[in-house]
Amino acid sequence: MPRQPVIALVATGGTIAGTADTPGAVTGYTAGVLGAEALLAAFPGLGEIAALRAETLFSLDSKDMAPAHWLALAQRVQALADDPAVDGVVITHGTDTLEESAFFVHLTVATAKPVVFTAAMRPATALSADGPMNLLAAVRVAAAPAFHGLGTLVAINDRVYAARDVQKQRTHGLDAFGAGEGAAVGRSDPARPGLLVNRDGGSCAAALASAALPAVEVLYVAAGASPALLDAVRGSGAAGAVLAFPGNGSVPEAWKPAIDAALHAGMVLVRASRVPAGPVGHDTRLPASLLSAGDLPPSKARVALMLALACDRPQRFCTLAAPH
Ligand code: ASP
Repeated sequence: MPRQPVIALVATGGTIAGTADTPGAVTGYTAGVLGAEALLAAFPGLGEIAALRAETLFSLDSKDMAPAHWLALAQRVQALADDPAVDGVVITHGTDTLEESAFFVHLTVATAKPVVFTAAMRPATALSADGPMNLLAAVRVAAAPAFHGLGTLVAINDRVYAARDVQKQRTHGLDAFGAGEGAAVGRSDPARPGLLVNRDGGSCAAALASAALPAVEVLYVAAGASPALLDAVRGSGAAGAVLAFPGNGSVPEAWKPAIDAALHAGMVLVRASRVPAGPVGHDTRLPASLLSAGDLPPSKARVALMLALACDRPQRFCTLAAPH
């Protein structure tokens, strides 16, 4: 009889581990209450698919995740993936900042074993809670040879997304996640995994040795927004900033002096877009050192820039950001 796959489950909190007072409540609940063992108890049949080793790393609402948590999580996932007895890793996480944690783990954890994030939009106490089915899908994906070598994945609502591409696109509803234009999406069916591709998985592994990540802020540039925002970030000593401009990364004239001053001071700046889909290309009329976010949304451009700076290679950002 073939050996049963061994999957390590790392719980970090989120709505999948959330509880409410009544079964009908899908808002106003407390996220991150239940630990890993309680998540497994919701579906004892999981044990027939894989032998599970469960641990609770954090009990957080993911709105409170910070770069220090990303580092601790990625270091733990790397250690589990390096264990010859472990075949795959599943991480349960809140939906709010899952896209950032998953992209960070994708870029820093070097392994061919499946590393699969999952989450839920309804708390564990809700009628038709989506957490147990999403956890089942994540364990299936982590246990299946078809998903090896694809980098970090996100299994949710019957689909599998590449961590690089996935984004929370709706504040409510089970179909909250999607991926940008032309991005890689698969199915949580090990027999028909779909179109996933591995882009840059583990390519920033050196950053896992960092004690802390460089400070990078994201600025949302509304019509008429004051460039004093960028001056303030420069004054805070941040190493970089991602500027979420309107349209195709269109830089308002009023922002150009502040951008020049920040570049002159040695900050690394990325021109991104507030628009949900489509790449931001290079614009030859702008300073050559103002980098373009490509098809990364501002939140992920920040992750990529932090890692590029942590590895002392700001230009590495351009490879990570290049559109599909
Ligand atoms: N605020 C929750 C969190 O991100 C939302 C969720 O998990 O759906 O932890």
